[in-house]
Amino acid sequence: MERYKIIKEVGDGTFGSVWRAINKQAGEIVAIKKMKRKYYSWEECISLREVKSLRKMSHPNIVKLKEVIRENDILYFVFEYMECNLYQLIKDRGKLFSETEVRNWCFQVFQGLAYIHQQGYFHRDLKPENLLVSKNIIKIADFGLAREISSQPPYTEYVSTRWYRAPEVLLQSPMYNSAVDMWAMGAIMAELFTLCPLFPGSSEADEIYRICSVIGTPTEIVWAEGLKLASAINYQFPQLTGVHLSVLVPSASEDAINLIKSLCSWDPCKRPTALEALQHPFFQSCFYIPPSLRSKMAVTRTPPSATRGLSEQKSVRRYSGTVSDSKPASKFPPAKSHVPLTTASNYNVKIGCGVSETAEKLGNLTVGNARLPAKQALPAPMKAGGCHGQTDLFLGRSQEIQTRRSFTKKVVG
Ligand code: ADP
Ligand code: MG
Repeated sequence: MERYKIIKEVGDGTFGSVWRAINKQAGEIVAIKKMKRKYYSWEECISLREVKSLRKMSHPNIVKLKEVIRENDILYFVFEYMECNLYQLIKDRGKLFSETEVRNWCFQVFQGLAYIHQQGYFHRDLKPENLLVSKNIIKIADFGLAREISSQPPYTEYVSTRWYRAPEVLLQSPMYNSAVDMWAMGAIMAELFTLCPLFPGSSEADEIYRICSVIGTPTEIVWAEGLKLASAINYQFPQLTGVHLSVLVPSASEDAINLIKSLCSWDPCKRPTALEALQHPFFQSCFYIPPSLRSKMAVTRTPPSATRGLSEQKSVRRYSGTVSDSKPASKFPPAKSHVPLTTASNYNVKIGCGVSETAEKLGNLTVGNARLPAKQALPAPMKAGGCHGQTDLFLGRSQEIQTRRSFTKKVVG
């Protein structure tokens, strides 16, 4: 660590604090995440599956892990430095982002996600705080670590951030997959348009209630598996019809609404994969090549996104075949397969994140009929964000942001 000069703290999370630092020799600015938990052997650090995966990941839209250092039983991760996180941008934003900005960010995140999923991982904690931005580039950060780190006390209460948590996880599905990241992306995308979280639940039950109030209660046809999951934990969905998303996200185009809607499908199988999302008409302009460049493109078949420094990914290149006529693949959504990597029980056993506690909370609850056990008033485990437990469905933007601000973890700088 002597090789680095610490400049200032830029983030303080549950598992570590993040500092801006400079590599004295190279003069390079980096971000150093100092883990709160102690690591007593090097093996303990490098055998972390997530550390291995992070070191392997190399993609323009994934924050690069440069070095792992263990010194005096403290573990440090040295990352490339990013200017800020997406939450900070949203919170400080006075006016709405343009659709072009939203599109550019989402296009990049989906590329990063497609890569992660292709590598056989899924993030599980996608949220604006974990998407880091520098200039026009956005990168996925903080992935994979939570699971391993959370397996050690005192981190037993950690579960992915509630507002972006997929319904199958809320309903304690024994098995979930990369589609949970797609759900989170739907919520994030909507938030980028409105600057307000789409499903800011104050508890697991309130989270489901809010989801029902937006996308309507699932029926047997919509999500048979979900109804089974709910009945397995004795949970009764509130009966709500939902609203048209364009009412809640008025500044979004029809294509954008369409994509958010499919990402936020109750049934994980009905959500597009990251690769499919990239082919959605919403991203059509990302594939636009000026006619003057088309002949060159036809020869090189380079993805147009590369012109923005976005993609070197093989899987995305595949779509560049459609570039010369400046249209995305016509079929949406084609047959898909989310990466089934782990089971919730697996995950929960590992992180000890209190499945039974949550199941109990949900199981005892009939939100629609206002039968709330005293227990429900307890703040649910959360890492960042949260509400005051109010059940008003649609607060004004300023209230939402205020609420969220006051509960979000400290972010310095
Ligand atoms: P935690 O697991 O505690 O949430 P994160 O890795 O998400 O830790 O980091 C917490 C915060 O620190 C992020 O939300 C971000 O604001 C900041 N941060 C993390 N990594 C970087 C980085 N590479 N460059 C700049 N800031 C970073
Ligand atoms: Mg984080």
